Amino acid sequence: MIPLLSHRNDTILVVGLGKSGLSAARALTAAGADVSVWDDLPEQRDRATAEGFTLFDCESGDMSALDQVIWSPGVPHTHPTPHPLAEKARAANLKLRCDVDLLATAQTDATFIGITGTNGKSTTTALTAHVLAAGGKRVEVGGNLGFTALDLAPLDADGIYVLELSSYQTELTPNLNCATAVLLNVTPDHLERHGGLDGYIAAKAQLFAHQTDGATAIVGNDDTPSKTITQQLTCHGHHRVINISAEADVSGGVSVTNGVLNDNHFDDSGTIDLRGLKTLPGKHNWQNAAAAYTVARTHGVPAEAIAQAFTTFPGLRHRQEFVGASNGVTFVNDSKATNANAAEKALSCYGSVYWIAGGVAKAGGITALGPLFGRIRHAFLIGESAQDFGAELTKAGVATSTHETLEDATIDAGRMAFADGDKDATVLLSPACASFDMFKDFEERGDAFRATVLDTWPEVAA
Ligand code: ADP
Repeated sequence: MIPLLSHRNDTILVVGLGKSGLSAARALTAAGADVSVWDDLPEQRDRATAEGFTLFDCESGDMSALDQVIWSPGVPHTHPTPHPLAEKARAANLKLRCDVDLLATAQTDATFIGITGTNGKSTTTALTAHVLAAGGKRVEVGGNLGFTALDLAPLDADGIYVLELSSYQTELTPNLNCATAVLLNVTPDHLERHGGLDGYIAAKAQLFAHQTDGATAIVGNDDTPSKTITQQLTCHGHHRVINISAEADVSGGVSVTNGVLNDNHFDDSGTIDLRGLKTLPGKHNWQNAAAAYTVARTHGVPAEAIAQAFTTFPGLRHRQEFVGASNGVTFVNDSKATNANAAEKALSCYGSVYWIAGGVAKAGGITALGPLFGRIRHAFLIGESAQDFGAELTKAGVATSTHETLEDATIDAGRMAFADGDKDATVLLSPACASFDMFKDFEERGDAFRATVLDTWPEVAA
């Protein structure tokens, strides 16, 4: 836990009692602050009072006595409708900050690396931390991924925090001065919460706004909003801007073309072949690798050490996770693909796919995946969407079957893949659907797939 001693005499309200809010309330209480808390959900409030926290009076509580308001990123404070406590706080001239901001002001000796983007944040954050650690750096990794900010360990001047930051967090971190900030990509997401695309882009750009002169900004070059941010940063001239791309060569930047990373920035004109990396398949992961490479070079890790570290990256659970392989059949768990956009990334990586899909479909279903249907040998459909997906796939000439459980679908998919004898087959769970018709969450779904594969074919275990 991060010591927050400078707050020991403060009176502080913590709003939102999920993982990050509770961790902030605990750390502030441990420091000696006078803490009160609020959450709109009665069960969250009950949990907090059972732990000994005092509730703030949301209706008539007086904010004039407060020194700080710590705001949980999940609680709306502007759009679609601001929470009444956010309006009260603003009226009392209290700036909303989240737990990451408390970390930033408490650990001023350490170096901060912030990573944001619509997609690939977790993978890039984990990969960056892995590469920096392999390069001998003392690293703590967390934020939106794994440990929340205040549950990380304190670091000295030689330590580096590698933080995954969502757009909800970047607009609540006015004191986070990243030595290196990364924006991978921007596609429309969370628009309701940010009042539209401009608000979403502005929230992401906050990460750069709080950096000091000369700090490094690493920005993706593969979408229009990110390019606009590059132009703005370059125009202001306060940052060292490095562009990355997984689409085309960028002059003075780091790019990956046809699976080979080209470094045109750090003067070494070096290349790294990313094509054989089992835990980083596909163009989208090449963007993540380009970002991690650029951060690591910025922080002094040699190119050879980075190339070596890429080969030992264990990958993240449930994101095109390599479960095992045997006799030409590879099993991949991509349970995190809860929409067609994410499933598209996985499907486009493999040629001969035994596809397990279905659950609670998102708007548009799997129609966007049409151009990739030719890669599917057979679709094993589960959950609520099985019938609709089946009709659409059958119309496109794809063989399908429907299964009561994920376990049945997995066993049938594996059996068929082995029987077909194709030497480059992939049994892929990439459902393009939410999981809650059959599972608690995507993690439980991915665990069930993995367990079935390893129980049924122990020989595939890596
Ligand atoms: P996030 O933390 O931003 O949600 P993850 O690293 O958890 O991102 O990846 C989630 C999904 O997003 C992956 O399963 C993959 O389908 C897709 N993805 C990963 N990296 C990228 C990227 N750079 N660009 C586009 N999509 C990506």
